[in-house]
Amino acid sequence: MAAVTFDAVRKVYDNGRVAVAGASFEIASGELVVLVGPSGCGKSTLLRMIAGLEAISAGELSIAGRRVNDVAPRDRDIAMVFQSYALYPHMTVAENLSFGLRLAGAPRAEIDRRVADAARVLGLDALLARRPAELSGGQRQRVALGRALVRQPKVFLLDEPLSNLDAKLRAATRVEIARLHRQVGATMVYVTHDQVEAMTLGHRIVVMSDGVIQQIDTPLNLYARPANVFVAEFLGSPGMNLLRGQVDPDGTALVLDDGSRFVLGDAVPATAGERLVVGVRPEDLRLQALDGDASIEAVLDLAEPVGNETFLNLRFAGQALIARVPPGEVAAAGSALRLSYAPSRLHFFDAAGGGRRG
Ligand code: ADP
Repeated sequence: MAAVTFDAVRKVYDNGRVAVAGASFEIASGELVVLVGPSGCGKSTLLRMIAGLEAISAGELSIAGRRVNDVAPRDRDIAMVFQSYALYPHMTVAENLSFGLRLAGAPRAEIDRRVADAARVLGLDALLARRPAELSGGQRQRVALGRALVRQPKVFLLDEPLSNLDAKLRAATRVEIARLHRQVGATMVYVTHDQVEAMTLGHRIVVMSDGVIQQIDTPLNLYARPANVFVAEFLGSPGMNLLRGQVDPDGTALVLDDGSRFVLGDAVPATAGERLVVGVRPEDLRLQALDGDASIEAVLDLAEPVGNETFLNLRFAGQALIARVPPGEVAAAGSALRLSYAPSRLHFFDAAGGGRRG
């Protein structure tokens, strides 16, 4: 087990592309941290720098207190699992699991013990004699995880390991990875573009956009207090609704560009006349009003019942809003609906920089 420390780590590719613009944070020993962000945001580059597969352009990277900028990948004591399983097709599961240890000249008894341990943890005992072609996608991914596990590395690096699996298998394997992490207590760094995967797996999540770390926190804190509009929209399915407008002269409502008013309550962290972005989570827009609620009238574009809940796609002041409501009968498309919300549940962001207010 080991901590991983980034100190102003930068990566500029030869073509001038700044993939990581100065990352500074620490992954604690035994922690499972998820790096998440849209495609191209630099998360794989950050992971590959830990692995030693990409040179670090500036700054310092340490594993277990040792600077590793110039340490070769094989000497970093890390194991990496990719989305392509890259198993040896002609070898059995047992041989795939033991290959790295055999190559390193580990004693036979030690190899057998570690392979048996990994097989037990991952439920592969009954599959040890099979070849990869005789396994399902989920089983192959478990073998790939097992191959990393037998090496007992200081740090596990996982690069979108579930993206080749179908939705059901992805959810099951996600639970397995979380369980595996609890059992072995290893430091794990997990890259995904899927915010649901990030929210369910990570102790802490590092949200990236365009090479820049936007926020690092626990899943619940990120959801409750996103640091900026990017994080607000990125996390949650669907993400936060954002309304742009100008605070009215008495400072208690947002006036949208078409003149519609959106009540903000009396604790608005902005001055009258200022431009502001106001966020409201889909589950905070309700069809039933409670004491102290404000409300808007919106037009229903489309209701999407998904069984346990219904998503209402609405139009308000010329822009799209989504409300997440309990299942039940809803009005026909085109109807006007009154949506209530508690002003205390609103989020406020700078119109210019997008940073959180209050
Ligand atoms: P992510 O994993 O978040 O999808 P990457 O870390 O792969 O993002 O890439 C970050 C940025 O760096 C992207 O703009 C990508 O096009 C660029 N990039 C990645 N690898 C290289 C490379 N070898 N040479 C030049 N640019 C690269």
